[in-house]
Amino acid sequence: MRTTIKFLFVPFLLIVALASCAQNDDGNLVRTIEEFDEAVASLQPGDEIVLANGTWTDAEFKLKAEGLPDNPIKLIAEEPGKVIITGQSNLSISGSHIIVSGLVFKDGFTPTSEVISFRTSKEELANNSRVTNSVIDNFSNPERHDSDTWVAIYGKNNQFDHNSLIGKGNRGVTLAVRLNTEASLENGHVIEYNYFGPRQTLGSNGGETVRIGTSHYSREYSNTIVRNNYFDRTSGELEIVSNKACGNEFRNNVFFESQGTLTMRHGHNTLVENNYFLGNRKANTGGIRIINQYQTVRNNYLYGLTGYRFRSALVIMNGVPNGPINRYDPVVDSFLDNNIVIDSDHIQLCAGSDEERSATPTGSSMSKNIIMSKTNPDPFTIYDDISGIKFEGNVLNEEANVPIENGFRKVPYSVTENENGLRVPEQSLIDDIEFGEVKLPVTKETTGAEFYPKVDKVGAFQSGEVHSVAAGTNTILEAMDNSKPGDTLLLENGGEYLLTKYAFVNHPITIKTGSGDKAVVRAEKSSFFVIENGGALELENLWIDGAESPDQAGNNVISTSKYSMNRNYSLAVRDCKVTNLDVNHTFNFLKIYKNTFADSIEILNTEMTNITGSILSLDEETDDLGIYNAENVTIKNSKFTDIQGSIASIYRGGTDESTFGPIVVVEGNEFTNTGLGKRNKTGASLIFHGVQKLHISDSNWNKSAPLELYLTNGEPITVISDVVMKETAEIRANNDEYTIENVVYK
Ligand code: CA
Repeated sequence: MRTTIKFLFVPFLLIVALASCAQNDDGNLVRTIEEFDEAVASLQPGDEIVLANGTWTDAEFKLKAEGLPDNPIKLIAEEPGKVIITGQSNLSISGSHIIVSGLVFKDGFTPTSEVISFRTSKEELANNSRVTNSVIDNFSNPERHDSDTWVAIYGKNNQFDHNSLIGKGNRGVTLAVRLNTEASLENGHVIEYNYFGPRQTLGSNGGETVRIGTSHYSREYSNTIVRNNYFDRTSGELEIVSNKACGNEFRNNVFFESQGTLTMRHGHNTLVENNYFLGNRKANTGGIRIINQYQTVRNNYLYGLTGYRFRSALVIMNGVPNGPINRYDPVVDSFLDNNIVIDSDHIQLCAGSDEERSATPTGSSMSKNIIMSKTNPDPFTIYDDISGIKFEGNVLNEEANVPIENGFRKVPYSVTENENGLRVPEQSLIDDIEFGEVKLPVTKETTGAEFYPKVDKVGAFQSGEVHSVAAGTNTILEAMDNSKPGDTLLLENGGEYLLTKYAFVNHPITIKTGSGDKAVVRAEKSSFFVIENGGALELENLWIDGAESPDQAGNNVISTSKYSMNRNYSLAVRDCKVTNLDVNHTFNFLKIYKNTFADSIEILNTEMTNITGSILSLDEETDDLGIYNAENVTIKNSKFTDIQGSIASIYRGGTDESTFGPIVVVEGNEFTNTGLGKRNKTGASLIFHGVQKLHISDSNWNKSAPLELYLTNGEPITVISDVVMKETAEIRANNDEYTIENVVYK
């Protein structure tokens, strides 16, 4: 009997052992989306779905599941970081107590409007769930202005932590907390320890990195906590963070060289505490912008912020009296206290004051702030009545002027680097405001998915190898094919080069002659160079000649892709000579297409002669939606002679206030017989519409079409100085809100 019993028991135990073994090894491993769907259909609390290592293409994961607090349902990678989801893919979850971990979305885009969604349908939301240790990298819709959201959090009590979100190129918020139904209000989500990697300038509204709520639900409470995140050059637009709901907290976040601000765009009772803004004197870096009621901004550290107007280090806005929900509510009972501001340029009070935004702040205070800066002797700009802000116990260095009578004590500028590598005022001042230790709450290393590197992929110009290229036909093309990002093609001194095919530029590349005679480049196709998505081009010490170009209208030297580009490009032309672009009419130097965007375009020390088209026409976004084609344009120390089209035509239409550019510098140039061709529809030699910052100086116009300005909203800065206009019509402008110094007509 005993033997029999034993005999019966042993196989049973074996089966149990084998079954649990299979469960761990293979039973819950899924290799296809069909296997995934099957696994989802029978999930029980405590179950785990393991995605097999490898590449998953065009996979839409929909996970509906009900876990329990002690027995959550998990969706994990076989090995974190080795499950790569690409193509047209996404993930949506609903139910409760779900944990997702270890996934990488890379080099694809979502076919819907969200990549990771905390809902599977309008009614089915996720609650008490978590996405952690996961990545979305370069997962941008190829249509630049086709909007989507990378992470959309609905429901309640969800957590998004230790994830890396890197390189969103198309329009749409990187991470949004949605409050669009009752079931998503007062949600208590926690967003922490995430790495928000570089986000390029979008050149339009819609480039926010984090948004909580929308104007429609902005008077509802969200109660979301955003803490201990690292924002690394998140420069999509003016709003890095767009707070649009009540009761949210932003604590212990680091904003590294990010262009834009943490903006309390809507909603009340926000806490902004102990955040670090490190501008490092980079352009357009900003801090904190206060709008609405009961906002508390305290104990933040701001260093090296150069932004002005709405992207200043500190901004308190004016509001609209009894305005509609989508406009600016006045600042009421809000506090800007105990902050340290070092080497930053602007603090603006009652910003945005105009006929509509006429309500000044009330019941508010600015106290015990330490402001140390020699970068701007007049850091304060006050646009309206500040009597509703109480100033008390603030400290300012002696060199800085403050137009406010009371509440500021002057001390010597004394700033040193502390043991944590941060620039700080004297310790006694820090102690006076009980700021605590000045130290970054998180770093790049302590945030994001632990397995995923945080490296910049795009090579800077001339950062790679140098390839010598022999003179001849298509030798440049062969060298380009063999090049890597950042490489340089070195042409022979005085060599002759012919392109019989388009030279497609797929990554950053420099083409140059060394210090000797310029190599000459000619082309038989309608373009010499075509900058494709991901490309950037630098031409140095070259002679570009149109003599071999086809006899047809509309040729160009450089073109962007004809298709939408979701990655910004840059173009630099230095020490070059450009001649004989005249085989037929409208031979342009640069031809851009809609839905493309340049971070920077430079023409330096260059001579251009005998051209039937235009040089830089950056005016393809004509819908007046605040979209434009280039952020920074510089034309310097160059000569333009016999150019039938315009030298520069830059257009940013509409009244949007969420971007910084275009920013244009025109300095030290000669324009002779330019802009007078009958096909030049602009009728101008240079025309700037909606440019936000324009400096024109030390330049001469000779027998040329006039300079034309169209100044729009955003308090554009326009300065024209030391300019001679000979036999050239007067500057044309739609108003006189620009500065003009020493402009001589002859
Ligand atoms: Ca915005």
